[in-house]
Amino acid sequence: MYIRYWLIKSLYSVAYKKLGSHMKAIAALMRLRALYRAAYSHKMYKKVAYVDGKYYLQVYGPAVPSRLMEQVQADEINRAFPFDEHRSLRVVLLAITTKCPLNCEHCFEWHNLGRAEEMTKDDLLKIIADYQDYGTSQIVFGGGEPMIRFKDLIYLLQNSGTDSDFWMYTSGLLLDRDRARKLKSAGLRGVMVSLDNHIPAAHDAFRGKPGMYEQAIKAAQSAISEGLVTGLALCPKREYATRENIGAYMEVARSLGVAFVQILEPRNAGRYMDKDVQLNMEQTGMLDSLMDEYNSRSKYRSYPIIRSPNSVKRRIGCVAGDRGLYINSLGEIQKCPFCAKSYGNALERDPASVLNEMRSQACPAVRSEMLEAIQ
Ligand code: SF4
Repeated sequence: MYIRYWLIKSLYSVAYKKLGSHMKAIAALMRLRALYRAAYSHKMYKKVAYVDGKYYLQVYGPAVPSRLMEQVQADEINRAFPFDEHRSLRVVLLAITTKCPLNCEHCFEWHNLGRAEEMTKDDLLKIIADYQDYGTSQIVFGGGEPMIRFKDLIYLLQNSGTDSDFWMYTSGLLLDRDRARKLKSAGLRGVMVSLDNHIPAAHDAFRGKPGMYEQAIKAAQSAISEGLVTGLALCPKREYATRENIGAYMEVARSLGVAFVQILEPRNAGRYMDKDVQLNMEQTGMLDSLMDEYNSRSKYRSYPIIRSPNSVKRRIGCVAGDRGLYINSLGEIQKCPFCAKSYGNALERDPASVLNEMRSQACPAVRSEMLEAIQ
């Protein structure tokens, strides 16, 4: 209740400050409410995660309350009721390495793995600084397996400014309590650990490396113990995407005590490029309603918050290339990990010109879905 009160109070005060009128501030809040209701199927989600003395609503999202959350709110108000041509970014996913000893079925960086490392730690630092200057609230390290560059991760965290939060997505490789502690004290905010099945042997087979289930569990436990915001990322294969399986998975997630479960549906990209892997409509419908149920029903209060970018995309359209972008392990900029079109190299292009180009190429169908959602 306190969190909802703070969010509304803060939204109003940011809107009033930016728009200069009570009526406009209320109108902006009404549009954002309509957008929220469209994104979450008119359900009011009741859950909030509490980690290390702070509240969180989203995977790769800022704490509530916080300066970064106010920045995100101002940006959303700007989109609903434009007052500034500059729109900032919510998330930059930054792949920091081409190295990974796993052999995952669905890897979207598959074609880059094993190549020579293109970006030095100072190249990465420059990219981070550029996107912080542009206004990016969350920077997420990935790969390859980012823990392979553990020393560089610490260097990046210690030498980057405080204008964004830092997260990492990982298979869990090498992540124990000692490293989790070092990452946290260097400035890491949260960790998403990939776990793709509640059955250990099936997870290991999917990841192409024995022992990865055990390692992922240990990584999540270590991150939780050291006060990192921790979630599990699940890529549900077609044969796994049943209500029973996801229910069993959520039991594992609850017993671990993670804050979030993020469902990332299989896509025709990377190693899955020419494979028939997409979920059918019955399965996506089941995942959409499961997300709503776990996030809004009181009987699921003790379970982690479920986030599903695909469910939100089905409801309000795609926000990649507008609120977020992806920089692959070679430094090439993409709208998201699944859209292979390159917008040039992050070491050569400034964020403003990239974002202008990406935004001008938003799918028209997506744009009209967004407009319908907020009208
Ligand atoms: S999906 Fe991640 S962990 Fe798996 S092979 Fe690709 S980079 Fe490695």
